[in-house]
Amino acid sequence: MTGIIAYDVCMCVIVFIFGTVIGSFLNVVIYRTPLHMSIISGPSHCTTCGTRIKPYDLIPILSWCILGGKCRACKAKISARYTVVEALTGVLFLLAYIRYSLSYMLPLSIILFGALISLSFIDLDHMQIPYWCTGLITALGLTNIAIQTIRGNADVWWQHLAVAGICAVVTGLLALLGGLGGGDFQLMTASALLLGMNIIPAAFIGIILGAIYGISVKISTKDTVKQKTALITDNYLSWLGEHSPDTERIIMGEYEDGSCKLTCYELDGKAMNEVESDPDLVDKLTEVFSDIPANKEYIFRITSKNGVVEKLRVQRRIAFGPALSVGIAAGMLYGQELLALWMNMFGIAA
Ligand SMILES: [Zn+2]
Repeated sequence: MTGIIAYDVCMCVIVFIFGTVIGSFLNVVIYRTPLHMSIISGPSHCTTCGTRIKPYDLIPILSWCILGGKCRACKAKISARYTVVEALTGVLFLLAYIRYSLSYMLPLSIILFGALISLSFIDLDHMQIPYWCTGLITALGLTNIAIQTIRGNADVWWQHLAVAGICAVVTGLLALLGGLGGGDFQLMTASALLLGMNIIPAAFIGIILGAIYGISVKISTKDTVKQKTALITDNYLSWLGEHSPDTERIIMGEYEDGSCKLTCYELDGKAMNEVESDPDLVDKLTEVFSDIPANKEYIFRITSKNGVVEKLRVQRRIAFGPALSVGIAAGMLYGQELLALWMNMFGIAA
């Protein structure tokens, strides 16, 4: 009896440590891949003083705690985020082991969690979900279908494909309406292929968390949005004064990576024609966001007619990747239980 317990504890510790080591590697992936830097070559350096970090200072979680979150050479603060990513990876790997033991679902789960952690932090930093993450999740989904089919579960392939198809239509529509990004659409569809029906509780959790996050961003950016609305109006009107102000125009703008991208339309009778955006206007509107850090994105839409701004909407763009990822991870670990619980609540016999 004690032998079994000792073995279990030992395995849990090993899986957790393995997770933190992988988490340490994910930190490199999160930092380097969006910048197209190699993830293999180049040893770790302090980003402040450039000193090469000694191997004994690279122990996940522990090193950061021992050094008090500071570089050994220059004492510059090292972000707690690296340690958070390591601990998070360790905990998720441990949960996957507790849930699936040493079955084929264990490697599928830990690869999924690695992809989810990477895409969540890359989405927060760069407002994009990389293709390699959604591609990897799709590959996991196909692998799962193949294994289950070989094991004699003949219905899995069409069930998972059908759920993925429905998910693609729903999230695709939401992406077209502008609520979700293209990356979110790919993430949900790929995950539906892997999770099957368990994507339902996953989506439910993701949407609730995403809504809470969206509302809190809206509240916290209220003053900035108000200030930017006034500045856009001023700068746009000053440009408009010299460019046939009577024309009816719709201008859709995105501020990202430090500059504005505009899509401009002019209305001629009932026809809406896309026109080239004037570099002068691009400069004037980029100026509005000069104080916004490069990793924050704003979108806006201007409607003007007869020399006045009729409508103007400005908002901070939100990274939904992290919220959706929490839901997907929960669906992978506890999807069946959540689905059963839900059906019980609504009195549907499973
Ligand atoms: Zn340093």
